[in-house]
Amino acid sequence: MEQTETSAALLKQYFGYTEFRPGQAESIEEMLAGRDVLCVMPTGAGKSICYQVPALALPGVTLVISPLISLMKDQVSALLQLGVRAAYLNSSLSAGQYKTAMARAAQAQYKIIYVAPERLLTESFQTVVRQIDVSMVAVDEAHCISQWGQDFRPSYLQVADFIRALPKRPVVGAFTATATEKVREDIRALLELDEPYCLTTGFDRPNLSYEVRAPRDKTGELLTILRGREEQSGIVYCATRKNVELVTGQLCKAGYTAAAYHAGMADADRARNQEDFQYDRVRIMVATNAFGMGIDKANVSFVVHYNMPKNMESYYQEAGRAGRDGSPAACILLYSGQDVQMNKFLIEKSSELCEDMTPEERAQRLEKEHELLKRMTWYATTTDCLRGYILRYFGEEAQGYCGSCGNCLQEFETVDATAAAHRLLSCVAVLRDRCRSFGKRSVAEYLHGRESASAEKIRAVSADDYGSLSTVPVQRICDVADRLIEAGVLAVSKGDYPVLECTAQSEPFLLQGAPFAIKVPKRGEAEIKRRKADVRGTGDAVLYLVDEQLFAALRDLRTTLAKQASLPAYVIFTDAALRDMCARRPRTEREFLQVSGVGENKMKKYGAQFLSVIAAYTD
Ligand code: ADP
Ligand code: ZN
Repeated sequence: MEQTETSAALLKQYFGYTEFRPGQAESIEEMLAGRDVLCVMPTGAGKSICYQVPALALPGVTLVISPLISLMKDQVSALLQLGVRAAYLNSSLSAGQYKTAMARAAQAQYKIIYVAPERLLTESFQTVVRQIDVSMVAVDEAHCISQWGQDFRPSYLQVADFIRALPKRPVVGAFTATATEKVREDIRALLELDEPYCLTTGFDRPNLSYEVRAPRDKTGELLTILRGREEQSGIVYCATRKNVELVTGQLCKAGYTAAAYHAGMADADRARNQEDFQYDRVRIMVATNAFGMGIDKANVSFVVHYNMPKNMESYYQEAGRAGRDGSPAACILLYSGQDVQMNKFLIEKSSELCEDMTPEERAQRLEKEHELLKRMTWYATTTDCLRGYILRYFGEEAQGYCGSCGNCLQEFETVDATAAAHRLLSCVAVLRDRCRSFGKRSVAEYLHGRESASAEKIRAVSADDYGSLSTVPVQRICDVADRLIEAGVLAVSKGDYPVLECTAQSEPFLLQGAPFAIKVPKRGEAEIKRRKADVRGTGDAVLYLVDEQLFAALRDLRTTLAKQASLPAYVIFTDAALRDMCARRPRTEREFLQVSGVGENKMKKYGAQFLSVIAAYTD
């Protein structure tokens, strides 16, 4: 109990927060009681606090092992801003800087030291740790220790040796956002955690809103999305390097500051673009999935997928880079049928690279990847609640309605599609009887009566139904086909040119004359609701409408301060903190301290300046 109070006081004093988020208090309590912990929390849930608060409460030094040099620097800058004595030791330091840092570390001048795993067993670092009292070792991105995970780092395997060699065993905490059961088992075993307290918080990120759009012109749609977000920072993910270059060019031409990031670029260019993004010198990062683990920018307000990723795991991880500071953020997927084809192609191509697999293994893997792609495609085409879909996909229970995703906000109407469904099915059946099959769009064009090359090909086989659905748009016929496929009444073949096929259910369906209805979006309303939703927090439905002018003034001050200090802006204050300032309009230092994200140190450093902007505005 006493411990809980101490941690809560530290949380306010240093970090300026009044409440722990789910999972934080429990894991902190366990560590303070001397028990190892293994924490799996989604990105943005607040893992750092789980080890930074106990680090402040424990008598000795806390070592944080982290794989990413760029992250260490930002984390340490952020801690210094909070008034926590912290340092990092990695290869980015010059020999002189490293020596100074080591000397200070040996004198126990730091409370928290970030260290790269490959440094742990070096003679120089060993000399330091022999002189200090290590209270806790926190292993960040702990999944890097497992070969089953995505980002295996052999140097993580040294962590256990390092801990064993310490004169007194410290408490050990392992933290990660992604861990399957297998990876969790590896973390426990390879880090030699001692009966750890295991904590997995839910996958839901209430401040993220999800939406899928299927525009004809993706770039046009992207520009529409950006238009309402002039001040915001965001990521646009594309499937290929070519698309990255293309979209970056189009955005720059339209007057946006955008930078590219993909594996085909020179290291220096990539690093520069990443830093420009981190420091808000460019607002939009256009990237392939190579832009990954190194980003913990707190103020990413939107993640747009220009192409659909190949599975839900990738999608959720990438979309999850939005809204880390807890502010409302949008995750928008721009879907087109071509994305499915492109992913199929990429899956086939990547399987050719698996030379070390037997043909059976390869076939199995291919099948699995196609299955995952199918579930991703369902997400992109479902009319059900998107948040619910995601949560159920990751094995959690979810309600059918979240009230904040694109589908929940979209009003659908149910329309009868019996005639179209029956025409479609009988057309596919007739063609099958003549040993022919065609793709979805060709059949739709044929039924609609379009004079296209593909419709002509079908006409050459059977002309009876040509134009029989002339009043139904081609796209709607395709939609009906999709719903029939979902219902299992129709199927698509695998392969490069997927064609429509009958299933065992097709015939009974036709014979019974079964009715068929589909849900279609009502036009007009969705757009308005969507705009409202953009400024509204989700989950507890807090209104996030803030005074835009004051918010802009505070943001300008933050930009100036960040430039002076050569820090990323969100390290001074996050958007969430600025928003809370707008809501509270503090007048005194005392009131300023109540703002979420204002601790004592930041109060001293920046309080006067922010208070004077607020005062000038309020008077
Ligand atoms: P993770 O490492 O889990 O991805 P971070 O530790 O970077 O997440 O935290 C994400 C954001 O949430 C940071 O801006 C952090 O300051 C904020 N945060 C963490 N805990 C709390 C809390 N209890 N109250 C308010 N904000 C918090
Ligand atoms: Zn929903």
